Amino acid sequence: MRRILDVLKQYYGYESFRKGQEELINNILNGRDVLGIMPTGGGKSICYQIPAQLLDGITIVISPLISLMKDQVDTLTDMGIKAAYINSTLSSEEFDRVLKNAKSGDYKLIYVAPERLETRSFIDFLEHVNISMVAVDEAHCVSQWGHDFRPSYRRISELIDRLTIRPIIAAYTATATEEVKQDIIKLLNLTDAFVLTTGFNRENLYFEVEKPQNKFRTLRKYLNQHKKESGIIYCSTRKTVESVTDKLNLLGFNATKYHAGVPEHERTANQEDFIYDRKQIMVATNAFGMGIDKSNIRYVVHYNMPKNMEAYYQEAGRAGRDGLESECVLLFSASDIVTNKFLISNMNEQNQEHAYKKLNEMTDYCNTDKCLRSYILIYFGDTDTEKECNHCSNCNNDIELTDITVESQKIMSCVKRMNERYGANIVASVLKGSKAKKVRDFGLEELSTHGIMKEYHADSIKEIISFLIAEDYLGTRGTKYPTLALTTKSKDVLFGNEKVLIKRVIDKHKEEKDSHYVEAYDETLFEKLRSLRTGLSGEQGVPP
Ligand code: ADP
Ligand code: MG
Ligand code: ZN
Repeated sequence: MRRILDVLKQYYGYESFRKGQEELINNILNGRDVLGIMPTGGGKSICYQIPAQLLDGITIVISPLISLMKDQVDTLTDMGIKAAYINSTLSSEEFDRVLKNAKSGDYKLIYVAPERLETRSFIDFLEHVNISMVAVDEAHCVSQWGHDFRPSYRRISELIDRLTIRPIIAAYTATATEEVKQDIIKLLNLTDAFVLTTGFNRENLYFEVEKPQNKFRTLRKYLNQHKKESGIIYCSTRKTVESVTDKLNLLGFNATKYHAGVPEHERTANQEDFIYDRKQIMVATNAFGMGIDKSNIRYVVHYNMPKNMEAYYQEAGRAGRDGLESECVLLFSASDIVTNKFLISNMNEQNQEHAYKKLNEMTDYCNTDKCLRSYILIYFGDTDTEKECNHCSNCNNDIELTDITVESQKIMSCVKRMNERYGANIVASVLKGSKAKKVRDFGLEELSTHGIMKEYHADSIKEIISFLIAEDYLGTRGTKYPTLALTTKSKDVLFGNEKVLIKRVIDKHKEEKDSHYVEAYDETLFEKLRSLRTGLSGEQGVPP
């Protein structure tokens, strides 16, 4: 079909379709429901925008992203495609105007937020216009197994049932697991849908997992090597976002932040600063990024391990949409497992088992010594993959096994001596030989004088403890103030029947570069920088 290629060239200025686009578009034009499963950056928007222009009536695009609707509509309008949006930011006059124009056939596409589907005025509106297609973007939001469940998505099929002429339904997502796919088909009521899954491989992405001793130091080094490039740093909590942003800015990086606790106007401003390259670095929780079309993101660093592979690949996949070389780096530490387990323990009980399974799969990705890309592709059911990609940190580097049996034995015997009554912090302090007040208060100073791990940094001791917990070499009791306890596995280690090994990837190229670094900063340096900043702004009469 020439027609659709002409539209692609004329409006978008692209020479050819990407994988899957043409088939999806043609099926829609033949009147068939479709489900398109393509990776982030794969080009899903075009798959409903082009048929929308060729079909008779209006295409309703359901998208969860209110903050991006205006941008998307502006872009379409600039290209000469008639579009509008309806969401809670419109005044009632604006809404009436959109309605009036829609009735006189002014639009090919109307973007709506799912919450609108529940309002009377919108339902009335639908009954007065000719709807030829309903495109459901980010369709995994209909499934509670996806990572962004939106209850309003459940109203979509109900709404479609009310229309006198049933429109074509076109659903798109980057989430490829079977259960999400089945949920979409069922809950959106797709009939005899053409389901297309493109390969999930993104050749221009380099995957890397690191297990740094000190995450922030590793991050700083990384960013120093990527100056002037645009990138996202995902953290698991708002608190971490705040502290990482703060430290980066103190060190002279140009970073902004995004999480649900930042006031809305500021969030929008920060997002725009990043999209329009006024800020190079976006530090964010997973609240940031869905639907964002910034093509020149050169790296996505995960400062913490996400809760599952779906979330990881979706977030990492925001790098390199322009097809140029980009990197996806995950900074793993065993404490990330502990954090995630804690979050799961607070979930609705019936979902917990499932969530643990997903977390284990994510953890395996961080610990595998096989090709990372093939791990991802096999996970998403892309079986047509090479065993080794030669373009990930496991293919390109050597794996080093560090034996931490002795350290583990020291920690375990300390836990035992302390009668399994204390948490990780106190145990670490005692091992370090601390004379802190809390150690004295608990009457542990005698034990602490030995300081059997005094040559270690307290954070390293805690890190090993987290690793031991994650691997069941140590157990925990209680949830609010968990205390450490021995497990059957700890006994094997204590009796010398089992070795404890930590895997670490050695990047041959990087080690050399990094050895020139003098690492002379820690929290005290940040304190100094902070007071300096306060002092400076004070002098200029600006409140800190
Ligand atoms: P997705 O929604 O699948 O994550 P988008 O629809 O936002 O991806 O598209 C990602 C980027 O790829 C956009 O910048 C888009 O303009 C571009 N793109 C889409 N299709 C093509 C194509 N056929 N040729 C070149 N670039 C394309
Ligand atoms: Mg999209
Ligand atoms: Zn590989």
